[in-house]
Amino acid sequence: MSTAAAPGGPVLRMEAVRKSFGTSLVLRDVDLEVAPHTVTALIGASGSGKSTLLRCANLLEEVDDGAIWLDGEEITDPRADADAVRRRIGVVFQAYNLFPHLTVLQNITLAPQRVHGLSRADAEAQARELLDRLGLVAKADEYPDRLSGGQQQRTAIVRALAVRPRLLLLDEITAALDPELVGEVLNLVREVKDEGMTMVIATHEMAFAREVADQVCFLDAGVVLERGTPQEVFGAPREERTQKFLRRIV
Ligand code: ADP
Ligand code: MG
Repeated sequence: MSTAAAPGGPVLRMEAVRKSFGTSLVLRDVDLEVAPHTVTALIGASGSGKSTLLRCANLLEEVDDGAIWLDGEEITDPRADADAVRRRIGVVFQAYNLFPHLTVLQNITLAPQRVHGLSRADAEAQARELLDRLGLVAKADEYPDRLSGGQQQRTAIVRALAVRPRLLLLDEITAALDPELVGEVLNLVREVKDEGMTMVIATHEMAFAREVADQVCFLDAGVVLERGTPQEVFGAPREERTQKFLRRIV
C-alpha cells in the first residue's frame, strides 16, 4: 500500500470498479479520475449508480472488484484503515444530515473534537469562523428543526468542511428542498469550490453542473457512458443515450 501522495496526482482515482447488489450489477468497470481542486458532476437517471459510486468512494460500500485510490493510497486495499479514510472524505446526503439534538455549533464541532482532538474552544472558534464566512453565524445556537431545509443543508456542508477533508462528496443535496431554497445551497457549493475544495457531486441540477463542474460523467446503468467538460457533455453529447437523457431533463 503506497501512502505517498503523488504530487499533482488525482485526489481520487477509481479503476474498473464493480459493484453488485444480489444479481444486479450496479457499477460496471467504472474508471474515474478527480484532479485536485476540481469539481466532478455525476449525472444520470435515477438508479444509474451515482449514489453507489459515491458510497464506494467513501468505503460505505465494499467494491466487488477494481480499486480506488485516495491521494495515491489504495483505500480498497484490505489493510487500509477505513475509519481514517472516511475522516479524509466529507459527505453530505440528500437529507437527514444533522444530529437533531445538537445545535448548529455542536453539530459542527463534534467531529473536530472527537476525531481530531481539538479542544472545545478551538473547535468552536474554528466553527464560528467557518459559519461567519459562509453566512450562517446567526444560526450557531439554533437546533436543526428551527432551520429551513436550505439552512440545514448549508450547515451540513459546513460540518463536513470542519474536519478539513481532502475530498467532499455531495449526493443530491438539493433534491429534497423546496425550489426556492435550492439557490442558497448551490451558492454555498460555489463558494466551497472557489476555496479550492475537490468535490464529486451527484446532481439533477443540470444548469448548476454545467456552470460549476470541470468534468461531467454521465452514468447509464452503472457505466460511465460519456465524460468530458460541461461544454462537451452538455453542448455536444456524442452518445445517443446522453442526448436522450439531456432532452428529457433539461
Ligand atoms: P442513483 O443514485 O443514480 O439513483 P443508486 O446508486 O442509488 O443510483 O442505485 C443504483 C442501483 O442499485 C439501483 O437499481 C438501486 O435499486 C440499487 N441499489 C442501491 N443500493 C442498494 C442496496 N443497498 N441494496 C440493493 N440494491 C441497491
Ligand atoms: Mg442517488
